[in-house]
Amino acid sequence: MSHILSSPIEYLKGVGPHRGDLLKKELNIFTFGDLLEHYPYRHIDRTKVNLISEITAQTDFVQIAVVMVNFSITGQKAGKRLIAEVKDKTGFLELTWFQGLSWVEKILETGQSYLVYGRVTFFNGKPQMVHPELELLSPNQPLGKNFLEPVYSTTEKLKARGLGGRQIGKLTQLLMGMLHEKDISENLPVAVLKQMNLVSRFKAYRQIHFPQTAEEYNEAVKRLKFEELFIAQLRMNLLRSQRHRFSKGVVFDKVGDLFNDFYQNHLPFQLTGAQKRVIKEIRNDTAKGKQMNRLLQGDVGSGKTIVAVLIMLLAIDNDYQACLMAPTEILAQQHFKTISNSLAKINVPVKLLTGSTKTAERKKILNELQEGTLKILIGTHAVIEDVVQFKNLGIVIIDEQHRFGVAQRAKLWQKASIPPHVLVMTATPIPRTLAMTAYGDLDYSVIDELPPGRQPIATVHRYETHRSKVMDFIRAEIDKGRQIYIVFPLIEESAKMDYENLMKGYENVKAYFPEPKYWISMVHGRQPAEQKELNMKRFVEHDTQILVSTTVIEVGVDVPNASVMVIESAEKFGLSQLHQLRGRVGRGAEKSYCILLSGSKLGNDARERIKTMTATSNGFEIAEKDLELRGPGDIQGTRQSGELNFKLASIVQDRPILELARNVAAKLLEEDPDLVSADNLQLKQFLHQQTGAVMWSKIS
Ligand code: ADP
Ligand code: MG
Repeated sequence: MSHILSSPIEYLKGVGPHRGDLLKKELNIFTFGDLLEHYPYRHIDRTKVNLISEITAQTDFVQIAVVMVNFSITGQKAGKRLIAEVKDKTGFLELTWFQGLSWVEKILETGQSYLVYGRVTFFNGKPQMVHPELELLSPNQPLGKNFLEPVYSTTEKLKARGLGGRQIGKLTQLLMGMLHEKDISENLPVAVLKQMNLVSRFKAYRQIHFPQTAEEYNEAVKRLKFEELFIAQLRMNLLRSQRHRFSKGVVFDKVGDLFNDFYQNHLPFQLTGAQKRVIKEIRNDTAKGKQMNRLLQGDVGSGKTIVAVLIMLLAIDNDYQACLMAPTEILAQQHFKTISNSLAKINVPVKLLTGSTKTAERKKILNELQEGTLKILIGTHAVIEDVVQFKNLGIVIIDEQHRFGVAQRAKLWQKASIPPHVLVMTATPIPRTLAMTAYGDLDYSVIDELPPGRQPIATVHRYETHRSKVMDFIRAEIDKGRQIYIVFPLIEESAKMDYENLMKGYENVKAYFPEPKYWISMVHGRQPAEQKELNMKRFVEHDTQILVSTTVIEVGVDVPNASVMVIESAEKFGLSQLHQLRGRVGRGAEKSYCILLSGSKLGNDARERIKTMTATSNGFEIAEKDLELRGPGDIQGTRQSGELNFKLASIVQDRPILELARNVAAKLLEEDPDLVSADNLQLKQFLHQQTGAVMWSKIS
């Protein structure tokens, strides 16, 4: 952006320091440019003239053509006001002024025609307009105006300071008048503008605020949305292609003894074709001397863990260390257990580092990591702390989380002189549009095949009122030797109530399933880590038949003997969460069930979610539906990444534009990967300004 647009907002005429501060605090408007990007949320069509009879309680802004019936000033001092009665052929309306009375009075004349525009309010049940805009209408003048009036969001505090929506519009208009074409210079290549039929950047900014027609407004929005998505795509693609071309990566070029020994002698099962393919993709990618940054998607239960294990062995065979990160303590512990058990057979040391690791143990681990004697570290976020230093970290595997944005991944690189390979594994399928937006800088593998012998999970919806039937069903399953999950919601905002419900639920389950025939364990976030672990362990080892819990078991927990997942208050869960929970069962050879219990009153979205769950078990379909219902902002964890927050574009509603932006960006980089051609100069400059010098030194 040019110099003028980076001017502090207080310097704009009519703002000043006080209002400037408020604009910063209330609307994040710091500069002229920010004001320009405070887009109107709608426009009022000033070409249209309404009739007084059309005014209803829902009307806000209205434009009417009227004749003055009479007017007079009434009241004293502060109560002084001017009231005018006007009419059109359908009725009468009152206009009121409290300020500037003498000025208004001068332009009013009984019998004259006026064009009146403003907000309608109701006083004593009667519509009126306070301080409307007023304009004399000469006899043959066309009635309406030739523009659309922008409406801006504002806040109560700003209004109190005289910065209502109207005034913000005035400021914007003033600013727009000060700007020249060169102040909002074009950033898209001419060819792209032509191909996509887009208006110039300057025009787009003017037209999004002050269009003369709806058509002009649409042109502006199309242009600016495209720009947002195109620039984002381009940046992602650049990161990826630069990594492919310029990054240095550790080389895993040999498949050694550990990998082979484990693969040939200790694999607990035959790998699926998809698992083999993914391992091959990763091997190819890690052997090239470039850094791998790969997203591995595989639905719940598709067997990602074993892929992680084999890849970690590959790293160790090449004299590197490996690190596996999980989102929760329980999951980290479980990974630690399964992985250290399997690797004990081939003598590979594995250790666990989490927030609750004792100081002495932690010290020991940190030492062994630096000496290089510890080969595999498993843990929670604790492993990315700066104190955790490796001798030669070769790969980081991040399990089950979306929380890792580009910036956080970059942080991992600092743990070694050559950045380690990064593999992000996720079971929450990400819709394609979301994946290419949030993860467009990553390469992509998918396990699209479940291990053999799995039966589909029967999913049903039952109302609260059928609880005892559900309990009978559970009893029959337990008597067959199966285990049961019963999950309660735990939502931060209503934590206390949810917690009480959980306790009540636990007592309730106990009443149905008394000891000593039945044993129940309970796991929730308020328990100390050891207790949590102990209770979980009892369930995993089949000491207990029922696990009552909150969503702490949501990700990754693996108990193949569990065949029923009961989800209490299912209406409170999001779709991807429900899908994750369901994925906890159906992991063994037995027929499995997921029972969604709910109250009888369901909102539309909740009904839709439950319907989707009973209709499909395809994670990708569910993810698409989830995105559609909730929008991208709420998709698990992505909010923090900031990569999906566009000012105008929505990756749900603007999918067609997103696809176009992606294709155009890909093609452009294919033809000019370093953006050296003169046609792409302005684009390159823009990216430079916008992102700072990230990796640009490499291609300048
Ligand atoms: P996820 O992809 O959800 O992390 P896991 O790695 O936990 O899945 O695997 C789910 C279950 O399937 C585990 O019990 C695992 O041992 C088993 N499993 C994984 N791969 C296979 C396979 N190829 N054949 C049979 N069972 C497998
Ligand atoms: Mg897993």
